[in-house]
Amino acid sequence: MTTPIFRFAPSPNGSLHLGHALSALLNWDLALATGGRLLVRLEDIDPERCRPELIQPLLDDLAWLGLEWELPVRRQSQHMADYTQALQRLTDLDLLYPCYASRPEINEAAVHGQWLRTPDGAPRVPGQGSILTNTETARRAAVGVPAVQRLNMAAALQRLPAMPPIRVFNPAAPLAPATLRSADPAVWGDVVLARKIVPTSYHLAVVVDDALQDVTHIVRGTDMEAATGLHRLLQSLLGLPAPATYHHRLLLAADGAKLAKSRGSLSLSSMRAAGVTPVEIRCRAGLPPARTAASA
Ligand code: GLU
Repeated sequence: MTTPIFRFAPSPNGSLHLGHALSALLNWDLALATGGRLLVRLEDIDPERCRPELIQPLLDDLAWLGLEWELPVRRQSQHMADYTQALQRLTDLDLLYPCYASRPEINEAAVHGQWLRTPDGAPRVPGQGSILTNTETARRAAVGVPAVQRLNMAAALQRLPAMPPIRVFNPAAPLAPATLRSADPAVWGDVVLARKIVPTSYHLAVVVDDALQDVTHIVRGTDMEAATGLHRLLQSLLGLPAPATYHHRLLLAADGAKLAKSRGSLSLSSMRAAGVTPVEIRCRAGLPPARTAASA
């Protein structure tokens, strides 16, 4: 039996809040309970939103919560070559195409074509050639307009004899055989796998890293459930193993919306400054008291 490997993978684009604490502590508790390893990974590929000065406070918050993780901490921004290699593999399979359309052009095509939306609310691009004509695409390519790389979803699905299922584990029995749940990556349409400013995207980087870091168990919120289906497809296309996954409940704000950095949810550091203890954080996150050496 190999040692279970868990990871907590925050983006340094704001302060951690109680929802992050729940996710981080669940990963930590499960690593402890299984005799596993915990990794922290910094998902900082977005130069427009991530701020290096937020990294140390984020790590300080995690240490304050009581987490211990292995070093070095992987920073995605330092591993672009790994993502480029995965992109090349998909290019070799003829599953990527450059898309030169601007956001307004995409939105206009979406309104005209009455496109559905992706799970994160973006227009669901239904296929190559659905925004710009071939002539316009060729013109923009010739003059060097920057492009994103989109996955040709229909071709990707056709390549697989059958869509493999997601492996779901039970946090009460993390080492028991995973149960299988069907994945529906098609809801993402022709999703962007490399952006104009960085040669990757969240979905591609996370799949590559989970494989490179030998992650066996992924613990993240139910808001990532649809993404897991897309990740399963990418793992399959790239020949990567599929970690077992558990999607935990989300903590909601008083108005019923999920906690989010972008909505200014109370940060862990401000709670700490106000005298809240890690024990209280566990309680507020709805977690049982921490395992101690005696109870472990
Ligand atoms: N970087 C993602 C976030 O901060 C984590 C997603 C994941 O665990 O795969 O929401």
